[in-house]
Amino acid sequence: MKPTHIEHIGIAVKSLEEGIKYYESVLGLKCYAIEEVREQKVKTAFFKIGQTKIELLEPTASDGSVGKFIAAKGEGIHHIAFSVEQLEEVLKEVEQKGARLIDKIPRKGAEGLHIAFLHPKSTMGVLTELCENKND
Ligand code: ZN
Repeated sequence: MKPTHIEHIGIAVKSLEEGIKYYESVLGLKCYAIEEVREQKVKTAFFKIGQTKIELLEPTASDGSVGKFIAAKGEGIHHIAFSVEQLEEVLKEVEQKGARLIDKIPRKGAEGLHIAFLHPKSTMGVLTELCENKND
């Protein structure tokens, strides 16, 4: 596996509105998309900084993974996403090397990316997302 760059950093927030206000007025970034991802029970807001994005995640239900994360740990960095090619092969490879897969098969994430998560128990506590952009 050879990630090309950090695709995005996912940050859990209680309020997308407050989050957007901070990233726009304090950090000077511009929110370019807001999208609800029903399967993951989140609303997302995106900012671009170089090749990398910041993805704010507001839970739409308390029983989703981001809702549970905020209840347990509060707001903060939720996951890091690495951009890879040939995600299916990469998943087989990292599993062979001992990483625990949350998704054995890639699923659809925000922005039409194909994504899969590695379990934080096998990645030193960092929820790790691997994603492939087939739109390019
Ligand atoms: Zn993500």
